[in-house]
Amino acid sequence: MQLTDPIAILFFILGLTFGSFGNVLILRLPKGQRVVGRSQCAKCKTQIMASDLIPVISYIFLRGKCRSCDKKISIQYPIVELVSGILFVIAAVQIPESSIAALILAILLWLLFLMAFIDAQIQGIPDLLNIPFVLIALLFAWFTGTLTVMAPVIAAGFFALQWIASKGAWVGSGDIILAAGIGLMLGDWPRAVVAIAVAYIVGATVALVGLITRQISRKDRIAFGPFLAIGTLVTVVWGEWLLQMVIP
Ligand SMILES: [Zn+2]
Repeated sequence: MQLTDPIAILFFILGLTFGSFGNVLILRLPKGQRVVGRSQCAKCKTQIMASDLIPVISYIFLRGKCRSCDKKISIQYPIVELVSGILFVIAAVQIPESSIAALILAILLWLLFLMAFIDAQIQGIPDLLNIPFVLIALLFAWFTGTLTVMAPVIAAGFFALQWIASKGAWVGSGDIILAAGIGLMLGDWPRAVVAIAVAYIVGATVALVGLITRQISRKDRIAFGPFLAIGTLVTVVWGEWLLQMVIP
């Protein structure tokens, strides 16, 4: 599929819209606030006009400032929107033969991104994202005919064992649920193992660089969600290639 394909463009626009809603979830879920309700400026609390809620474009048009109070709007908003748009295009490119399957995959990647973002901020994954992720992953596996028991059991079991062994110190219970969803999403267990392996390699590299540069100390807890999300995305895009490298 070409990036100029109407489906790819449609997915990009849809992804930007999901990203816009993602900003609301990132902001409100960790604080336990209601998800519905109009958005307001973080600084002056003025309700934002509907015409100023167009993903990315409104940010550029307003030059990154609130229309009412002129204070800066966080660059986080257009970035979350853009990343969501790109994730939707990745899903469209991965499954060109079925737009429905591609859409479900896109939503899964978007949920993973939101969970990674929130986990990095608050060291925890809201069940309001986690549980829907597992259910949608189940739907995806059923729809694409890749439903297996092994992949979610191995992925979740791996984290459950660590959780039991460390009494919840090494990994959070949210990681177990997340891993089950990732197993369902990836379909067969070797792909789930690749995702976890990539997550550990990236996580260990980041931790090492952080320790050397003294950005993090030994006592710091590092959220694992972002690395699981990266490992899963890498497996979705390059999984077959990575598996062929390991098992020729
Ligand atoms: Zn304002």
